[in-house]
Amino acid sequence: MKIFQKNYFGKYGGIFVPETLMPACKQLEQAFNKCKNNKQFNNEFHYLLKEYVGRPTALTFCDKLSKKLGCKIYLKREDLAHTGAHKINNALGQALLAKHMGKTRVIAETGAGQHGVATATAAAKLGLKCDVYMGIVDIERQKPNVFRMKMLGANVIPVKTGSQTLKDAINEALRDWTANVEDTHYLLGSALGPHPYPTMVAHFQSIIGKEARKQILKIEKKLPYAVIACVGGGSNAIGIFKGFAKDQKVKLIGVEAGGYGISSKKHAARFADKSLGRPGIIHGSFTYVLQDKYGQIYNTHSVSAGLDYCAVGPEHSYLREIKRAEYSYATDKECLGAFQLLSKEEGIIPALESAHAVAYLIKNHKRFKNKLIIVNLSGRGDKDIYIAADELGIKL
Ligand SMILES: *Cc1c(COP(=O)(O)O)cnc(C)c1O
Repeated sequence: MKIFQKNYFGKYGGIFVPETLMPACKQLEQAFNKCKNNKQFNNEFHYLLKEYVGRPTALTFCDKLSKKLGCKIYLKREDLAHTGAHKINNALGQALLAKHMGKTRVIAETGAGQHGVATATAAAKLGLKCDVYMGIVDIERQKPNVFRMKMLGANVIPVKTGSQTLKDAINEALRDWTANVEDTHYLLGSALGPHPYPTMVAHFQSIIGKEARKQILKIEKKLPYAVIACVGGGSNAIGIFKGFAKDQKVKLIGVEAGGYGISSKKHAARFADKSLGRPGIIHGSFTYVLQDKYGQIYNTHSVSAGLDYCAVGPEHSYLREIKRAEYSYATDKECLGAFQLLSKEEGIIPALESAHAVAYLIKNHKRFKNKLIIVNLSGRGDKDIYIAADELGIKL
């Protein structure tokens, strides 16, 4: 019973992996439990976050956007973290853990290449060998990030199976890990996968929420009415939610990718689409997955690569079930509107992923009239300029 509770969030989560991978998950859990309370490990981790990543990241008041929408809006600026997004927090945490475990190699999956770049960066900094699995479809459409990873000394391994995208890259990385557990750590990029990943990734990302809570109390002398974050696998959202989880009055709102709209069935809204999104097992975890009536994984679509994933981290399924958090979505179109508005009004070009959280606030601003709101700006939009220009019909 004890193990059951530790591995699960309510009925979600677990360790649904082949027997051959169980020892690796167990070893990782033990190492994580040891390190997370270890003074030396935490000193090293926080030193890197401060001096290398540039934390704490700012909490920026948006005066123009606030006036426009009739509420008081602050952005938690993960776009200012080294490499341009929150992913580096987790990559450094796990790379450091790999080193403490005596491993010499890290592997990772990547879709758009953001997690691949974060992992390659952490591996370069900490002196680890790094192989990144990436679908060939993604390699073709994300060339700048492929180049970045190579510059950082990583090896990019093309994945030719399945849809040749993120979910196939995860499958290949899990296979590699099974065969090379001795010297290799699988550095998973979001709060998903088998235990202990969802718990561990949330732990390394919880720095976002810890900082944001402290900052808002210092500036405003009160807690926010709501905290809003986009949800792909769910790591930036769970990271900021952790800081406010015990403040029962603070509303926690996750925003999924609505793609072309729910009825189009071309989206990544695992919670919002009741016909396709239901609990199932994928990548070692029991959680909400987009699937057809036979349980086959449904192909997702989003203008933002980072939200374009068929499942959601199990803790989000749980937070939704117990009604501690609520989940909604923004469409591609709404996201692009927010992308433009935030750029023009505040001088901040957001990642298309983060723009979903802003879009939700714009769409629902009447609900938040005169309220204090924090939006987690998970990353910067430089990586997205080609896609955005194409979508907006602007020639570069
Ligand atoms: C990868 C990414 C996301 C989505 O991942 P989560 O694990 O859901 O946070 C969101 N924003 C940015 C900028 C990303 O790079």
